[in-house]
Amino acid sequence: MKQRVYLDWNATTPLRPEARAALVAALDICGNPSSVHGEGRRAHKVLQDARAAVAALVGADPETVVFTSGATESNALALSPGVHRPASPPVKRLIVSAIEHPSVLTGGRFGREFVEIAPVDRSGVINLVELARLLANKPPALVSIMLANNETGAIQPIREVAELVRAHGGVLHVDAVAAFGKMNINFKSLECDLLSISAHKIGGPKGVGALIVGDDLRGLEPELRGGGQEKGRRAGTENLPGIAGFGAAAKAVMTTWEQHARHCEILRKRLEAGLKQAGAVIIAENASRLPNTTLFTAPGLHAETAVIGFDLEGIAVSSGSACSSGKVQPSHVLEAMQAGPEQVRGGVRISLGWETTENDVDRALEAWRKLAGTLVKKKDETVLERF
Ligand code: PMP
Repeated sequence: MKQRVYLDWNATTPLRPEARAALVAALDICGNPSSVHGEGRRAHKVLQDARAAVAALVGADPETVVFTSGATESNALALSPGVHRPASPPVKRLIVSAIEHPSVLTGGRFGREFVEIAPVDRSGVINLVELARLLANKPPALVSIMLANNETGAIQPIREVAELVRAHGGVLHVDAVAAFGKMNINFKSLECDLLSISAHKIGGPKGVGALIVGDDLRGLEPELRGGGQEKGRRAGTENLPGIAGFGAAAKAVMTTWEQHARHCEILRKRLEAGLKQAGAVIIAENASRLPNTTLFTAPGLHAETAVIGFDLEGIAVSSGSACSSGKVQPSHVLEAMQAGPEQVRGGVRISLGWETTENDVDRALEAWRKLAGTLVKKKDETVLERF
């Protein structure tokens, strides 16, 4: 049996040893971080250390970190009608880009029917002219744009978006989940008001994340009410083991992400050259992209079948986002990029990580060459035979 090769790092990452150790150690802490006795104070210290580490990784102040159960919850908390900047009225409108994660596209507490969609161009980058048009001559809006797209890896011009949103008195939320740990993220210099991140994308445990809430944001309604945890912004006794694991992963990423980004970029170049040699087309190739992400297609390729084909060769890849794979659905990201019907159903994503080796990439290329050789045309429908 060939060894498995995991090339789906945008879906999730393996738990880092530091994160595992911190998580296991926190399981033995009996205190509640809200209690004033020694046991409680010990738990509180673990919580605050993790908060400081997570804040440092995204250039934010520790007090602005609200721990959540993951970025789905962070996004739901962020998309709150009534938020506003001090001198502006509460927002009543929500504008999101067409390539957002489903947890944003569904509109949070605004509801789907209130979502206004900002289009992207053919390389999957937000169209700033259209965004400006949506913002102009109307009441201020909450705008939610991701820092990088999880399917294509295309990095979005958040500074320019922030300038536009501020000029119109709006509030900016950034889903930084796909970019987290793969590029420099600085909450303050991005000039956004809210930023979502998730631990399991950086080698932390699943089921824990954070929302960074800017100091001068007003009107954020908690989704979960109860105890006063997280300064009243998210009630419930904290998931201390998860948060401790998140903090340890953040500390590790702080000193290693640049080296890992370079490592991934070198491997991605090798991967893309090999894929193209065997007939693949790289999607959003000329956009500024995350260093680890490749989305590709080929005439006649059916993504779901290809993912199974790769899997049979021992290689884990994905068709678009993990959250929507499992269901045979065209990619909403590729649709938003106005890709043709063949491309929309044919996008295969390979995403690399810090443990990926040259040999892993070569194994994927070997599988791709085999797969590409079996693509045959049948009348007007193209299918993939045997693999
Ligand atoms: N946003 C993006 C861009 C994501 O890729 C994901 C995870 N697939 C989420 C949000 C949701 O994060 P979580 O899994 O922590 O709920």
